[in-house]
Amino acid sequence: MAQAAPGDSLLGRQDLHVHTTMSDGYVPLEELVRIGAERGVQIGVADHVSRRNLKRFVSSEERVRRYLDALEAHDVFVSGEFCWCDDYYRDLPDEVMARFDYLVGSNHGFNLPGGGMGSPWWEQLPPEWSGRPQELMEVMVDELCRMVRVMPIQIAAHSTLTPPALYALEDDVDAWWTEAREDRFVEALAESGVALEISNRYRLPHDRLLSSALQAGVRFSLGSDGHGVDQVARLEWAAETARRVGITDAQLFVPERRRK
Ligand SMILES: [Zn+2]
Ligand SMILES: [Zn+2]
Repeated sequence: MAQAAPGDSLLGRQDLHVHTTMSDGYVPLEELVRIGAERGVQIGVADHVSRRNLKRFVSSEERVRRYLDALEAHDVFVSGEFCWCDDYYRDLPDEVMARFDYLVGSNHGFNLPGGGMGSPWWEQLPPEWSGRPQELMEVMVDELCRMVRVMPIQIAAHSTLTPPALYALEDDVDAWWTEAREDRFVEALAESGVALEISNRYRLPHDRLLSSALQAGVRFSLGSDGHGVDQVARLEWAAETARRVGITDAQLFVPERRRK
């Protein structure tokens, strides 16, 4: 694995959220390892381990075992991106879960009161929510707080991803991520010890939330969420953002490898 030279910052040199062809990425593992070495970036593979997409994702125990075997044979951190909307982590045996160096958890769908799931990618609000956008935002933030408290994860990925339908109504991040909501989420992160991902792909979170998380002692990780050759091991925006808000190596979540 690419080693950071002494005195060099780890910022931008650890990409802890990368996909491969083992789920919905386009880069085979071997090529990803080569690209990481070439770009001087340590890679944490976090393919989707979820039944949300049975075909493309690592969605059966047998597939999880094969996935872990493949990662353990390479010079990468062993991770997986688990869905808040699918509690698969509860169904996998402990000895399988113990083979991951760290776990990533993501809001790819959140529970709505009265049943059904909301999506952070909604371009349009369904009719029953169209008159209540603030209420929907409130629900999503509550769900994010529950996610970091309930899931056995070390990193919350692209957590402030907010439905485009809301930004279509009001194009100001503060209208949705109010200080009160930010405070609630930051408190949940601080209490759970879950690191906040700075997503190079989605360019999230916004500076104010990062600053308040920094103040609260939350840790951070940088992830490309890369699926293609042009994205993996690319952390320029994330590293620049971390530096801008004053995050240093001391505030980074740094995984340890379980296998020797
Ligand atoms: Zn995701
Ligand atoms: Zn991802």
